[in-house]
Amino acid sequence: KKSDFGLIGLAVMGQNLVLNVESRGFQVSVYNRTVDKTNEFIAANPGKQLVGCDTLEAFVQSLASPRKIQIMVKAGAPVDQVIEQLIPLLDQDDIIIDGGNSLYTDTERRDAYLADKGLRFIGAGVSGGEEGARKGPAIMPGGPASTWEVMKPIFESIAAKVDGQPCVVHIGPGGAGHYVKMIHNGIEYGDMQLICEAYSLFKAAGFTTDEMAAIFNEWNEGALQSYLIQITGKALEQRDPETGQPLVDLILDKAGQKGTGQWTQLNAAENAVVIGTINAAVEARVLSSQKKQRVAASEHLQGPVADLSAAKKNLVAKVHDALYASKVISYTQGFDLIKTMGEKKQWNLDFGGIASIWRGGCIIRARFLNHITDAYRTDPALVNLMLAPFFKDVLNNAQQNWREVVALAVGHGIPVPAFSSSLSYYDSYRSHRLSANLLQAQRDFFGAHTYERTDKPEGQFFHTEWPEVIG
Ligand code: NDP
Repeated sequence: KKSDFGLIGLAVMGQNLVLNVESRGFQVSVYNRTVDKTNEFIAANPGKQLVGCDTLEAFVQSLASPRKIQIMVKAGAPVDQVIEQLIPLLDQDDIIIDGGNSLYTDTERRDAYLADKGLRFIGAGVSGGEEGARKGPAIMPGGPASTWEVMKPIFESIAAKVDGQPCVVHIGPGGAGHYVKMIHNGIEYGDMQLICEAYSLFKAAGFTTDEMAAIFNEWNEGALQSYLIQITGKALEQRDPETGQPLVDLILDKAGQKGTGQWTQLNAAENAVVIGTINAAVEARVLSSQKKQRVAASEHLQGPVADLSAAKKNLVAKVHDALYASKVISYTQGFDLIKTMGEKKQWNLDFGGIASIWRGGCIIRARFLNHITDAYRTDPALVNLMLAPFFKDVLNNAQQNWREVVALAVGHGIPVPAFSSSLSYYDSYRSHRLSANLLQAQRDFFGAHTYERTDKPEGQFFHTEWPEVIG
């Protein structure tokens, strides 16, 4: 019997995805560049509908037509190398799926390249890490709708389910799937940083890690319910087996990153979309990684004592609101970017559908996403998520506490870049009049860039002969 599905790349993600697909009743062929890994994998999983292949030729021959081959290798050049090796072995209409974290522009290039060769291609973002891959990830596939239809039964069966709905929808053509996965990762950076800022305030107020764990566990029962809040509670509870100390206290405050957050930043910059919360989150990781410089600077640069113990009363409720409101801003910005690119690329994106598949399987899964789906289902042309009735109420109710938290943090020298950037976005966006009148005056002053006037119709431009400045 020929296999229903093939997978290349038996690292963490590949192995778990294979076991997931197999568990849904499909026979799966596997191939890995290093053959030992294939043999080990097959030996470790006896009695399953798995076909281990030593060569790509044998692998391709073992698959039923049209072949469905998912590549799960390291993102970047390895994906192109595997594709090049596959091309001469495949027949017209066979399907290659790239399930790695590929940059969406690479996916667009591969999509066009393979279409030219008569092969079909899906670029699918897969989220949820190892556990998601095994039990049910969120999948964001991009490519031709007709190719998606062929892949749909397998993808729907392996995806996470929420309220009986699979966490996979066809995102759009070409690179749309990997693009949306990229923004998902940017939003993930934002969510994580916001939680860390809440933690830093609690720490400054003198809460113990056990008390903080209890706060996050309780939050996980309410509006902030989410996987990341849940694992934060659990992470804070963890003790170091050797010293018995809370493990988080022993972990170095130096964060790494793999670059998808920076891709999101670059894309936002290219499209002139404001994603301050995500930018703050990426930059917070960068500054955290400069540990040596920070330690040196701490000897020279002054600030107030970071002690919030006097403000401990009601702090939990206030920080809750600051986190919730900032999270709304982060998603507002993320969806603004998705919307802007979707329009530019004519991807015809369903924002409600995107939010709904993020409810399960992936790292940012949360109850909260239901409200985003509702907002776009009610008003598909919604200009800014903050203005959807539900989010408007959240922000109006939270804004006072949010301000107090940011003011408290600033007053005590505790960095809250994502909380404060989110609040500045909120206050700028709701401002009838900003300070850009002066900015326009400056631009016209030095560069004759002209300006519009409040007392004249829009679209009429004026220039002033400003006084000459000497020196
Ligand atoms: P890695 O990204 O660590 O990639 C390792 C795999 O790639 C191995 O099977 C390796 O084969 C293969 N490989 C590397 N270079 C080549 C090459 N030139 N030709 C053929 N095969 C090659 O594995 P992961 O499982 O962590 O991730 C796979 C993909 O999924 C990546 O794109 C990753 O970004 C993405 N992803 C990962 C997540 C995670 O939590 N880990 C979550 C979501 C997406 P060999 O054994 O021979 O070295």
